Amino acid sequence: MLEKVVIANRGEIALRILRACHELDIKTVAVFSEADRNQKHVLLADEAVCIGPAASVDSYMNIPAVISAAEVTDSVGIHPGYGFLSENPDFAERVEQSGFTFIGPRSDTIRLMGSKISARESMHDSGVPCVPGSEGSLTDDLAETARIAKDIGYPIIIKASGGGGGRGMRVVHSEATLRNAVSLTRSEAQAAFNDDTIYMEKYLENPRHIEIQVLADTHGNVIHLGERDCSMQRRNQKILEEAPAPHIKDRQKRKISEQCVDACKKIGYVNAGTFEFLYEDGQFYFIEMNTRVQVEHPITECITGVDIVKEQLRIASGEKLSYRQSDIHINGHAIECRINAEDPEKFIPSPGTITHYHPPGGPGIRVDTHVYQGYTIPPHYDSLIGKLIAHAETRELAIQRMSMALSEIVIDGINTNIPLHRNLMKDAAFIAGGTNIHYLEKKLGIK
Ligand code: ADP
Repeated sequence: MLEKVVIANRGEIALRILRACHELDIKTVAVFSEADRNQKHVLLADEAVCIGPAASVDSYMNIPAVISAAEVTDSVGIHPGYGFLSENPDFAERVEQSGFTFIGPRSDTIRLMGSKISARESMHDSGVPCVPGSEGSLTDDLAETARIAKDIGYPIIIKASGGGGGRGMRVVHSEATLRNAVSLTRSEAQAAFNDDTIYMEKYLENPRHIEIQVLADTHGNVIHLGERDCSMQRRNQKILEEAPAPHIKDRQKRKISEQCVDACKKIGYVNAGTFEFLYEDGQFYFIEMNTRVQVEHPITECITGVDIVKEQLRIASGEKLSYRQSDIHINGHAIECRINAEDPEKFIPSPGTITHYHPPGGPGIRVDTHVYQGYTIPPHYDSLIGKLIAHAETRELAIQRMSMALSEIVIDGINTNIPLHRNLMKDAAFIAGGTNIHYLEKKLGIK
C-alpha cells in the first residue's frame, strides 16, 4: 500500500480522500492555498504544505508547486480529486516522470479521453454507441460541413474537441446559421482551450444524462458499479443525482454497463472512471469519459457498498480489485443534493462566514462537507460546500429521507440552494422520475 499521499485538492473531496487514506493507514499531506489554512482536512492531515496564493492558477493548478510538496514530504502518491489538475495529462505525466504514483489512469489515457474526437473514435472502435456525428474534425470546407450536417439531420451541435465545463458548443437548427456557428465556435475554442479543433454531433433535443461508473485494476480486472442519473442540471452543472436511474430496464442498463467494461479492457483503462451518456428514446449515446472520481460518487457507494476512493488507492498501490462483478449487488436507492453557497434564485455565489451549522442525521443520511460553524467560505473557488446524500430501500423512501434531512439542516450566515432542493423534493415530475436535462431550467423559468 502507498505509504504517504499528497491530496492535491481542497474542500469536501480533499476531506473525503483524507478519510479513505486514514482508513487504509496511509499518511496524508494536505496542500493548501493561503486562503485555505482553516480547511478541515488541512487541520486533520498528518502534514500540510502551503503551495501558493489564493488564486487557483497559482496554487491548486500550479504543477511544480504540487510536485515539490510531494518531494519535500517524501510522499509516494498524489491524489488529484476532481477539477483542478485531475484531468490534466501533462500533470499526470509529470507526476509519473518525477517517480510518484498518480492516483488515476495513465497520462496517455487521460490525453486520449481529453480530446472528445479521439475519445469518440476509441469508444466507437470499442463498440460503445456514440451520438451520430462527423468522422473526426471539421475542415474549413463549408460545403463539406453543410453536407455532413444534412446527412446527420438538423438540429446539430458544433463542439470543441478540447472543450469542457459545458463550454465550447453551439446548437445549429438550419443551414442558414451554420457558417456563423462554425466560425464562432472555432474562434471560441481557440481562445478558451488553445485548440480550434471542432466536430459535429446530432443535437438530441430531450435527453437524460446517464453515466456508468467503472473500476479497473492494473491486473486487467474491470467491473462496473451500475449507473447514475444526473439529468437535474442548470447550465450544464449537475444539481442533484440519483442511482439507480428510474424507468430504464435493468437489461438495457446491464448491456451498456458491460459495453463500458469491454471498452475499458480494450483501451487498458486503469483506476476509477465514468462513461457519460445521453439517453433518448430508449437509446444510449456516449458523449465523454471522465477519468477521475466524480462529485456524485457517494450515491454509487451507498447502493453498492463499495468505497470508490479506497479502491482508487488500492488500485494505485498495485493491488487487485477487492470485488468481482458477481460481488456487486444494487441495494436500494440513493439521492445526492449538491449544496452550493449561492443565492437560491439568482445563483450568485455567496461566500462568507457560517454563523450556525447543524447537520442532519439519522439512518441512511450521509453528509460530505468540509464546512463547520465559524468556517469562512473564501470567494476564490467553486460554490460547492457540501453534499447531502440519502439512501433507503426504495426511491420513494429515499426522497422522504432527503426531505427530512433538508428540513433539519441549518446553514446560517450565507445563502445556499437548500430551498431549491426542498422545492424539488415536492416536485411532481421529479417524484415521478425520469425528467430530462432541460427540466430544471424550464422549471426555473430560464428556458
Ligand atoms: P463538457 O465536457 O463541457 O461537460 P459534454 O460533451 O459532456 O461537455 O456536454 C455537456 C452537456 O452539453 C451535456 O450534458 C448535454 O447537456 C449537452 N450536450 C452535449 N452534446 C450534446 C448533444 N449531442 N445533444 C444534446 N445535448 C448535448
